[in-house]
Amino acid sequence: MVIIMLGAPGVGKGTVAGILTEKLGIPQVSSGDIFRKAMAEKTELGEKVEEYMTKGELVPDDLTIKVIEERLLEPDLKSGAILDGFPRTKVQAEKLDEFLKEQNKKIDMVVDLTSPEEEILDRIVNRRICSNQNCKAVYNIKLKKPKVEGICDKCGSKLYQREDDTVEKVKNRIKVYEAQTKPLEEYYENTKVLYRITISQKINKMAKEAAEEIVEYLNNKGE
Ligand code: AMP
Repeated sequence: MVIIMLGAPGVGKGTVAGILTEKLGIPQVSSGDIFRKAMAEKTELGEKVEEYMTKGELVPDDLTIKVIEERLLEPDLKSGAILDGFPRTKVQAEKLDEFLKEQNKKIDMVVDLTSPEEEILDRIVNRRICSNQNCKAVYNIKLKKPKVEGICDKCGSKLYQREDDTVEKVKNRIKVYEAQTKPLEEYYENTKVLYRITISQKINKMAKEAAEEIVEYLNNKGE
């Protein structure tokens, strides 16, 4: 099963994908996490992507596609993946289609998440992430505080704030999203697998409720 999480930065793609991984037993593949790990480990890939990541710009398509295709061929993804943050451009979406076709796989669902911009900004600047690469739990210092400040409830590692999670950089990332990723909604519109969900405190629909709705959709689809 292949699920794509679309949506602006900070909308909750990663959080919803994490809950779905637990519910469906399908691994989450986050291009952003792969790049951040490479940067932390100072690998060749990390050096190549650093400049783009710190500015909040997109990493070039050819490099991103290569990294994701390599990841998708790894044995733990045999039964599928929840793609979080990929594709982000039309070229990436087209290459993914070609790649899946070659593998006799198809996209089961494209989840397009939206959220009011003020909630996105609030969520991003208050976001704190577990520094343990095997945990990566996400907190919010207003809405989902850790029990001990700066420490992950799940594994006890230190929490950190992403370098690109500042108001200025987020505004740029949202601009990049509007220009390069939003057109993908149209790309997937005709595929009959596009499913829109609004996440908002105002309607009491947060990541947990969104994930439940996605599972229900997939169950009904399979009937
Ligand atoms: P994310 O963790 O999804 O917010 O991604 C963080 C950053 O990683 C983005 O601002 C980009 O610089 C880079 N990135 C992640 N996914 C992609 C992608 N599919 N294409 C290009 N750049 C990406």
